[in-house]
Amino acid sequence: MQIDLTHPDFQAAIPILQQIEAAGFEAYFVGGSVRDALLGLPIHDVDIASSAYPEEIKQIFRKTVDTGIQHGTVMVLDHGVGYEVTTFRTESTYQDYRRPDQVTFVRSLAEDLKRRDFTVNALAARHDGTVVDLFDGLGDLAAKRLRAVGDPHERFHEDALRMMRAVRFQSQLGFTVAPETQAAIAENAALLAHISVERVASEFTRLLVGNQRRAGLATFVATGLYRYVPLMAAKQKELVALQQLPDTPIADPAVAWTLVCQCLQLAVPQTMKAWKQANQLSHLVQAAVALLPQLAAPTPWALYTAGEAAVTVATTAQTYLQPDFAPAPVQAAYAALPLHHHQELALNGRDLMAQGWRPGPKIGQTLHQLEKAVVAGEVANTPESLLAAAMVK
Ligand code: ATP
Ligand code: MG
Repeated sequence: MQIDLTHPDFQAAIPILQQIEAAGFEAYFVGGSVRDALLGLPIHDVDIASSAYPEEIKQIFRKTVDTGIQHGTVMVLDHGVGYEVTTFRTESTYQDYRRPDQVTFVRSLAEDLKRRDFTVNALAARHDGTVVDLFDGLGDLAAKRLRAVGDPHERFHEDALRMMRAVRFQSQLGFTVAPETQAAIAENAALLAHISVERVASEFTRLLVGNQRRAGLATFVATGLYRYVPLMAAKQKELVALQQLPDTPIADPAVAWTLVCQCLQLAVPQTMKAWKQANQLSHLVQAAVALLPQLAAPTPWALYTAGEAAVTVATTAQTYLQPDFAPAPVQAAYAALPLHHHQELALNGRDLMAQGWRPGPKIGQTLHQLEKAVVAGEVANTPESLLAAAMVK
């Protein structure tokens, strides 16, 4: 089997593989790029695996950076582009259901491929495009199936995150999960509690924005994984409602989390905190969820305080919750607001003081009232009308 390496990212990296081979070592493309190229999907980050040890890689190339040398990864810099070259490795004895106790470098590609999660992720390709397939990853690729490499129980015991990766890849790739692999997830779901929230959240978000979100969520519920993630253990019914939203892919994580909080009836700040999401995302989702109930007839002030980003997120989310909802009028109403930001107010504290106002809280209160009046369309946003309005406040 040959893989088409005409993609410029592969082409640019082929000389790296050849240089490693010329020094007497093996080097292969591995992981997601091989899988995605075989599926005809766009590729991102080309990963290279090699029998050369990190110190040996550093002797072959003039410019390298130790990006993850303890895991065996060295970045090779070539014409300003960085390529991650990782030494073949095994991950011995996992004791805490997550990271291995110890990474051991090995010279054998087979050993390296054996520790990978799913057969479709355990494919390797030589610089001439010859595919190395030790676990019938090609068969699973053709069948669009995620199957754990080796014994699924063992593999999920070693690293429980792989169970979340399964449902994430199911959504991302539109694959099914092989029956024995799914049964092993159902049996071992509780091990997910050992994995850091950030890593679970990253996989869950990728599930939500994947093309086959419904299928991924169905497995997430059916296997019981949902019982071991923050705040969802008692939300099976609501998760089914989330799963039944229209199939259209969700591009924006903020829209995804808005729908999660809304469908699961979860308070946004607590949820985003429990899932260790960034404050900025949390605030955006909070503003969007607050706007949702008002979308039928939003007041100018509600749109103004939500802000452009939250208006976009809320209107997009609403198209899933209420399929006949038209976002355009609400977005047009936002665009037509006489004021979008506090700083756009044509009068400020200095202007008022220039008119003889004394510094003090009255200035701030007056400006806030003027802001509301401008947003409501009651006062024009010009210095003259604002000043005139301020005098009667
Ligand atoms: P994508 O980049 O689309 O997320 P990917 O397959 O490249 O997909 P990465 O997380 O980038 O996924 O990992 C690269 C490769 O490393 C995987 O294809 C897989 O072979 C291996 N891998 C990553 N995480 C694990 C894991 N938890 N257990 C076993 N193998 C893993
Ligand atoms: Mg990748």
